[in-house]
Amino acid sequence: MSRIVVLGAGESGAGAAILAKKEGFDVFVSDMSKIKDKYKKMLEDHQIEWEEGQHTEEKILNADEIIKSPGIPKEAPMIQKIINKGIHIISEIEFAGRYTDAKMICITGSNGKTTTTSLIYHIFKAAGYDAGLAGNIGNSLALQVAEEPHEYYIIELSSFQLDNMYDFRANIAILLNITPDHLDRYDNKFENYADAKMRILQNQTQEDSFIYWNDDPVIQKELNKFKITGRACPFSEIKEKNVIGYIEDGKYIIEHPTPFCMEQDDMSLTGKHNIYNSLAAGIAADIAGIKKEDIRKGLSSFPGVEHRLEKVCKVDGVQYINDSKATNVDACWYALESMKTPTILILGGKDKGNDYSQIYDLVKEKCRGLVYLGADNKKLHENFDQFGIPVKDTHGMKECVQACRDLAQPGDTVLLSPCCASFDLFKNMEDRGEQFKTLVRSL
Ligand code: ADP
Repeated sequence: MSRIVVLGAGESGAGAAILAKKEGFDVFVSDMSKIKDKYKKMLEDHQIEWEEGQHTEEKILNADEIIKSPGIPKEAPMIQKIINKGIHIISEIEFAGRYTDAKMICITGSNGKTTTTSLIYHIFKAAGYDAGLAGNIGNSLALQVAEEPHEYYIIELSSFQLDNMYDFRANIAILLNITPDHLDRYDNKFENYADAKMRILQNQTQEDSFIYWNDDPVIQKELNKFKITGRACPFSEIKEKNVIGYIEDGKYIIEHPTPFCMEQDDMSLTGKHNIYNSLAAGIAADIAGIKKEDIRKGLSSFPGVEHRLEKVCKVDGVQYINDSKATNVDACWYALESMKTPTILILGGKDKGNDYSQIYDLVKEKCRGLVYLGADNKKLHENFDQFGIPVKDTHGMKECVQACRDLAQPGDTVLLSPCCASFDLFKNMEDRGEQFKTLVRSL
């Protein structure tokens, strides 16, 4: 019997272990941290041996293959030992892909993955398709393959997941954009990170499709290196000679495979970035054969994703929006760009070496006030005080929401789109968004 060792017992690790057990492997799971009770129970219910708080070498280095959680970097000492011993390391997605003939629709990019993945899933479900949601979005593909197989899987892929994929084939691959991120995991070389994203193309055949944002210079550069084997489906904000999806005169248009058109105003997602996400989603749905009226229905009824330009409520004529997921300047740029009324922008948190000059012009054009929310707001003062826009300095969500209320006038928008990670004052970006919503609703 072959032996599979799973490193990391989160959602994907526990799912991979259960699938491996079902497929008849001798399975062992090892996690350096504490395993959540939920996953311990899942493993025990399937009689899978596990350990936590350590990696026992003898139990790991005798594996025929290792399934590694995407969170474990290749520099981790145990991974180095595994590599030195020549044991093959794969991702959970790679493993699960071996045991299903389902159609795989895979989404990657630096920004927009979760939104686009959720939107495609929404369109497929609204059209009555048998689809599963998987990958980085938080659901294990392996677990679904083992216990609840679907005809289609809509899979969000991070670069870390793509790193350990070799034979996996995406029937429809989507690449939204490539901007610098996670460089610490790629020897600080942007090219290595970009190359990882391009792995989504590998193993595609002529029957497959590759949907990508044509206006991204990095993708264009990478396409000189990586060949498209399947059908190329570029999309753009404007009609250009080779693109098959674009916006023209306020209309959302897809030319192939089935001509499709709808009013941009009828789409539920707003903002320039969401045009890209919606084009990618609509083209994928079209390729999968979903009927035009169902695509239209899906694009117009999508409720959006929590913490991404999420409308909270109106208080005294002021619209409050939670975009806590905007943890980099690029994401905030797109959020601000989509604002239609004078905006009170909440900025700050744990800075990741941000270059704020990217949003100077939009801040000057759109903001009535700025509220800084961080343990240390010095860099924000240095960057934004120069514009003469009213500024409030805060160090907690309660104080911040009150400051927004003081600055906003009826008809304004208050936007939490902080450009920064949340760890200085909050558990994570979800906690930051939740606190914001709770306090706004109690105003
Ligand atoms: P990801 O899963 O890739 O992190 P999300 O859909 O969670 O992406 O969105 C993350 C942030 O990026 C949000 O603040 C969102 O407003 C912004 N965003 C979404 N789509 C795009 C896009 N296509 N280009 C740039 N920014 C985007």
